[in-house]
Amino acid sequence: MSVWFTEDQVPGLRLSCRVSRVLHQEKTPFQHLAILETEVFGRVLTLDGIIQTTEHDEFIYHELIAHVAMCAHRGTLRRVLIIGGGDGGTMRQVLRHRQVTACHLVEIDERVVAVAREFLPALSAAMDDPRAKVIIADGIEYVRDVQEAYDLIIVDSTDPIGPAVGLFSADFYAGAHRALAVDGMCVAQTESAFHNARLVPAIFARMAGNFPIARLYLGAIPSYPGGPWSFTVGSKLYDPAEPVRPPPGDLRYYSPDVHRAAFALPPYVVQALAHPPS
Ligand code: SAM
Repeated sequence: MSVWFTEDQVPGLRLSCRVSRVLHQEKTPFQHLAILETEVFGRVLTLDGIIQTTEHDEFIYHELIAHVAMCAHRGTLRRVLIIGGGDGGTMRQVLRHRQVTACHLVEIDERVVAVAREFLPALSAAMDDPRAKVIIADGIEYVRDVQEAYDLIIVDSTDPIGPAVGLFSADFYAGAHRALAVDGMCVAQTESAFHNARLVPAIFARMAGNFPIARLYLGAIPSYPGGPWSFTVGSKLYDPAEPVRPPPGDLRYYSPDVHRAAFALPPYVVQALAHPPS
């Protein structure tokens, strides 16, 4: 007998993958959390039935969300804040940059961190690095109240539903701007450029309303819906599209060529960004 996991990606579209074992599932105070062993993606972390990360394709998303801003940052890049990202995959990529002295990860759901530590050790082992600190808190409140200045903020959140809604708001980006050094950058995962054709320009406009430079880039992540996945960068000083720092070694997706190419946007995306919903 085959057991299949099915994700309702958007109304009228589903992705199914064959599951060989359900390794863990629980209802946390925030969401339903599961770890599935699948044929195609290896171990998969789902939250409320939505794939968050998978063993086999995580490198694409995590390298893209971390190294683009990090390799475009021309100044002192020592202190990095990750909002969400409780699986540890983004933190692992950030800590590959030796110049980083502190990486703080603010995750709302301590169970995501605990379960990732048990079932996704390759990702979560980064949390044992002496430069790493995990803070269990709401990222919206943390960014609103924090007094320290970060060089980079990475928003590795769930989709804009439930506790993550505010992470896509103009107020949150204003708080991120305040929490950054004078040459700081903020990068966020901002959903599918195809399926979320109205939401992506709206989020982009909120980032652009708070940062002098805002750019969007794309990457295709096999386990995420809709082909091109978008990331939005707000920058106080540096052009995020231009890689200037050499990347760490042993990467599987990111390279300076991939970096530049990721900012080449198809006309349907350029037009959508030019006309955000009012
Ligand atoms: N790569 C993933 C994706 O785009 O599907 C995101 C992975 S990571 C697991 C997302 C994390 O954001 C979740 O663990 C969730 O608990 C956390 N999260 C959601 N809202 C949050 C908030 N307001 N503050 C901090 N963490 C939050």
